[in-house]
Amino acid sequence: MPFTTRAAVHVKHGQPLDVTEISLPDPGPNEVVVELFASGICHSQLHQIHNPDTPTPALMGHEATGQVIALGTEVTHVREGQRVMLTWVPRDVTTETGRDRNFSRTSWSLGGEEQAGPNIYTWAEHVLAHQQMVLPLDEDVDTDVTAIVGCATVTGVGAVLGSAKVPAGSTVAIYGVGGVGINAIAGAKIADASRIFAVDLSDEKLEFAKEFGATDTINASEVDPVEAIVELTGGGTDFAFDAIGYEITMRQILNTVRAGVLGAGDRGGTAVLIGVPQTDATIDARALLMGERNYIGSLGGSSHPMTDFKQYIEWYKQGALPLEKMISVKYDGLDSINEGIEALESGNISGRSIMIYKGT
Ligand SMILES: [Zn+2]
Repeated sequence: MPFTTRAAVHVKHGQPLDVTEISLPDPGPNEVVVELFASGICHSQLHQIHNPDTPTPALMGHEATGQVIALGTEVTHVREGQRVMLTWVPRDVTTETGRDRNFSRTSWSLGGEEQAGPNIYTWAEHVLAHQQMVLPLDEDVDTDVTAIVGCATVTGVGAVLGSAKVPAGSTVAIYGVGGVGINAIAGAKIADASRIFAVDLSDEKLEFAKEFGATDTINASEVDPVEAIVELTGGGTDFAFDAIGYEITMRQILNTVRAGVLGAGDRGGTAVLIGVPQTDATIDARALLMGERNYIGSLGGSSHPMTDFKQYIEWYKQGALPLEKMISVKYDGLDSINEGIEALESGNISGRSIMIYKGT
């Protein structure tokens, strides 16, 4: 039987989200109904909310934890009653099966009208998700802080260890130390980077970044971060990550990494774009060529969630990935969504904020 739940619906551009009842159909063969425990509030959704071209009505959110309450006949990797994590990165596809992303669309209805769903939503008390977006969660870990693994961790830690494969002893710079940035810092520490520069405009966020392994902090409103890092490292870092996606930061990361040495078979450093770009960017093409620098994109940390998420939870248990410290605000329930969005927008959130729907 279809059932109703509460969701934060993006009804119209320029308006706050509307927390209202929606109706979900029975799960199809490859779908799972999950009652959510907690969901993170990710900055990338703000861009979607502010974009007048985003189709409405829309459901949002893409990292959460919950418990399976119903599942389709083809779903075998989780069972009813099991604790799970939700993510926007397909958990177990091959190059072949992953190319067609239609698998992930589910349907829902608002006021009796059927809507095409996004591939994941978590700003709701229940979600009907394709099984690719659902991963098992150990029973013995907290279900609130692990809600951020599905985006902040896989994006940040994944960029460092999965996309860039930062070797031990490397020097690393992270531009933008919000939820994704501090995960990238934690990832660089796990990789045993020798020096980790955190770059941001907020002293408070920079101070916070030290808790996760930043060895040097640079306030880009006070100094030119490229000049500062090039000087402090004698030529630039081995890696630089942009967790923001602004025109200026997309440009800065390339000039932050070191040049290669011509004739020595030594390529330059690697700039990695993680943040969703809001514009095109002009980069210093001369630095790209003359220093044999590399510029790569990282989406979902080039990860394979079915194996990588297990490792993230292992590191969390060991204390190497302190998710509990990354969460600075816990909101009580879905009704706080607009308050949470506003706080994030005004730069008042260090790390990540989450909404708790249901305790465990
Ligand atoms: Zn996100």
